[in-house]
Amino acid sequence: MRKKIVAGNWKMNLDLEGGRKLATGICEKISENPLETLPGKPEVVFFPPYVFLTEVVKAAEGTSGVSAGSQNIHQLEKGAYTGEVAAPMVKSCGATHTLVGHSERRAYFHEDNALLAKKVEQALNHGLIPVYCCGEVLPEREAGKHFEVVKEQIVNGLFWLKQEAFEKVIIAYEPVWAIGTGVTASPEQAQEMHAFIRKVVGEKYGLQTAEHVSILYGGSCNAQNARELFSQPDVDGGLIGGASLKAPDFLAIIQSF
Ligand code: PEP
Repeated sequence: MRKKIVAGNWKMNLDLEGGRKLATGICEKISENPLETLPGKPEVVFFPPYVFLTEVVKAAEGTSGVSAGSQNIHQLEKGAYTGEVAAPMVKSCGATHTLVGHSERRAYFHEDNALLAKKVEQALNHGLIPVYCCGEVLPEREAGKHFEVVKEQIVNGLFWLKQEAFEKVIIAYEPVWAIGTGVTASPEQAQEMHAFIRKVVGEKYGLQTAEHVSILYGGSCNAQNARELFSQPDVDGGLIGGASLKAPDFLAIIQSF
């Protein structure tokens, strides 16, 4: 059985106290109602800004199934790159995961698939699980190119990995037109793309690996629509932006399997 995962991408929001409160509040509720007793037995990963990572890791300590990761890493291990943060630094703060290739990184920081492949490599070299984000922009969907675009992102970002390394990766499908817009992909649209991604993975790494990879949906997923999205056979959970900043909403999403 592949893992169900609910991940919260806090983006550039909150401050230290706000981040600590959010993580602590969610973890307290999870302790009262442990993840392993919930349908789907989901795992939870917080993606706070780097500067709160240590505190969020501390807040999550002792709550089974909850961990934290970074929203990005640099493509190199260390060096004279003022302002950047490398995978071993993130790992040393207690992170278990990192996002790679979020659409905001692709759009605003011009991160392309070749660069993202290096970030995936860095993550894996330093024991971080990459959550590799992919997804088309609206004109690509309107032109019927969404499958092609997502396939290219996955092939170029991930398919250079050996089987064993690939099996550590989580994929997040996030149609860019649905991120932060309040427009969610329909459950059918999400399922169609997730099934396609799984097929593409199967063609490269075999059926067993395809069945094993967790594919999360992201894009205006919230407490109201999560259950329908998560009930799709190839949707293994969500990468949640806006709704991850409100503890009651995020908790409701965790309970939506
Ligand atoms: C995201 O940024 O990964 C995301 C899915 O954002 P939102 O849920 O706010 O659309």
